[in-house]
Amino acid sequence: MLSQKLGSITPSYTIEISRRVSELIKEGKDIINFSIGEPDFNIPQKSMNAMIEALSRNATKYDNVSGLAELRKAIIKKLNDENNLNYDTDDIVVSNGAKHAITNSLIALLNPNDEVLVPKPYWVSYPEMIKLVGGVPVFLETTKETSYKVTPEIISSGLSSKTKMIFLTNPSNPSGIVYSEDELMKIGNYCVEKGIYILADEIYERITFDSPFVSIASLSESIKDMTITINGFSKSFAMTGLRIGYSASNKKIAKAISSIQGHLVSHPSTISQWGAAAALNECRDEVEKMKEEYKQRRNIAVSLLDKIPQLPYVNPQGAFYLWLDISNYKDKIVYDGSYSVAFSNELLQKGNVAVVPGIAFGEDDFIRISYACSKDTIREGFKRIESFLRTL
Ligand code: PMP
Ligand code: GLU
Repeated sequence: MLSQKLGSITPSYTIEISRRVSELIKEGKDIINFSIGEPDFNIPQKSMNAMIEALSRNATKYDNVSGLAELRKAIIKKLNDENNLNYDTDDIVVSNGAKHAITNSLIALLNPNDEVLVPKPYWVSYPEMIKLVGGVPVFLETTKETSYKVTPEIISSGLSSKTKMIFLTNPSNPSGIVYSEDELMKIGNYCVEKGIYILADEIYERITFDSPFVSIASLSESIKDMTITINGFSKSFAMTGLRIGYSASNKKIAKAISSIQGHLVSHPSTISQWGAAAALNECRDEVEKMKEEYKQRRNIAVSLLDKIPQLPYVNPQGAFYLWLDISNYKDKIVYDGSYSVAFSNELLQKGNVAVVPGIAFGEDDFIRISYACSKDTIREGFKRIESFLRTL
């Protein structure tokens, strides 16, 4: 009865785990939730005020398919001021979250069976999005030695005559790694040389701790022309439920994205868009405060993790995740199928800590921890993880 496409699609692990955890908490269980990547902050006050104000002046009618003029103007200014990127209004399409901006881009560029390179570990939804629009994900292996980053050599291992695009997540969910300018330049030039589009998912761009963030499209005109930059308000502005993201690309691609969006959803909620415009124009201080708090949390989490040498990791320089290698416990867990799922289930049942199994991101010897929670929660969670590991 259902489309054959569904046969190869797995529901989102992150969303499913988060649903299970909410149920357990409702039942009265004391769970530390390190699973979903959702900021625990409220949205900035001025953004909320702008939405209330927009509602009270009835800003509730259909508007421009590509997004409110005021919001696109704010996005262009942000890209110019912060990322050294020059775009016109016509290059920006505002969508229902970064997820939607990515899917629009895939629909705009992929023909049936076109291949899309997806470096591992990847964010959970990429392969399913690619398959849903008729493309084929081709996975690229990375290693701890290259800090789970791709290089032109690694990219070359996945190339074929059908390669159309590569996903580049910077900072990375789940590993938290951040690419340097030099690394991005090499990747960008290589992709231009090979004629591969770069889908640059920069949704965690404002949450970087140790060095300034570089947007790959800012490195040259030819790289910019081949790049679709994706960003959104869910992470930096803690606006997950308001569903605003956007793409910035060359005019031809932006026009295609806009016409796709016009048929599928018209545009995202006007009220959310007014909130997003205010977030960009008036709430930079709040973003800085959140970032500082994430940095302190990262430092706490990493210092606690250093006391558990059996869980190797790469120090995250951005986003709010830790990518932990659990391979040292492989002979201590009984599993028939996915090891990381079995490990995560035991940790939840016996240790009362919820994490996301690495298999969701393409690597079964890992788990992902989200530290978008209070410092006390982080301390208590690591205490529980340590006790749990001692029982194995
Ligand atoms: N890309 C990455 C890397 C993410 O972690 C997420 C998580 N939400 C998204 C895209 C989608 O974000 P949004 O809420 O804007 O759809
Ligand atoms: N991106 C977040 C995560 O990885 C939110 C969940 C989702 O959108 O899938 O946990």
